[in-house]
Amino acid sequence: MRVARYECEGAVRYGVIDAADGTVREITGEPFDGIRETGIVLRLEDVFLLAPVSPGKIVAVGLNYKDHAKEVGMLIPEEPLLFLKASSAVVGPGAEIVYPRQSKHVDYEAELAVVIGRRAKDVAAADAADYIFGYTCINDVTARDLQIKDVQFARSKGFDTFAPIGPWIVTGIDPSALPVRCLVNGEQRQAGNTRDMGSDVFRLVEYVSSNMTLYPGDVIATGTPSGVGRLHPGDVVTVEVGGIGSLTNRVVERDREPVR
Ligand code: MG
Repeated sequence: MRVARYECEGAVRYGVIDAADGTVREITGEPFDGIRETGIVLRLEDVFLLAPVSPGKIVAVGLNYKDHAKEVGMLIPEEPLLFLKASSAVVGPGAEIVYPRQSKHVDYEAELAVVIGRRAKDVAAADAADYIFGYTCINDVTARDLQIKDVQFARSKGFDTFAPIGPWIVTGIDPSALPVRCLVNGEQRQAGNTRDMGSDVFRLVEYVSSNMTLYPGDVIATGTPSGVGRLHPGDVVTVEVGGIGSLTNRVVERDREPVR
């Protein structure tokens, strides 16, 4: 099932996409408590897709792919390395990524995003699937110069528009071997696979939930494969995860107000 969040006639709704006929079947409230259709059916082309979730928090994982750790001269840590991305940084498919005036080096990071479906505290990896609502794509946009300068990641990973998520949430898929790609201006820059994660999705749910409670709608950004590189104003960047879809955003110049 594909679940989208969208704006239509000024209201924000969730709906289930029927790819076969290009429609969205509106549901009541949020999808985490169960899917109840309202009976309203819209054409996909008539709705404005938003980020498919409005997370209370984004827990991100650093250095979770060996080849990426190697390219930045690090090793995969013994335990997952966690940081938080600001929920105010979230934008949806098609939204602009604003290059901040404070940075001279902004990178893309294509990642699989896990969307939590149930309150999760001290969940064992073997039970983690029951707490996951579904999966989507995230671009963990990073001001690399500020990440190094600040040591802490709050600013470098937290600028407005630095967390594009989408295009929709896919439920019921196996996350263990999904291709993860990044394209810039149509050229492939990253081509990894979730099978190469240091800690897999279920282990990450176990680890994160042992440290902090996860709530419905929270997102885990599972780390990026190798091939990380720079973005420049004018670039069009696409994060693509096999079985999910692609998330495309344009980078715009500094000091410009973003278009959603
Ligand atoms: Mg990352």
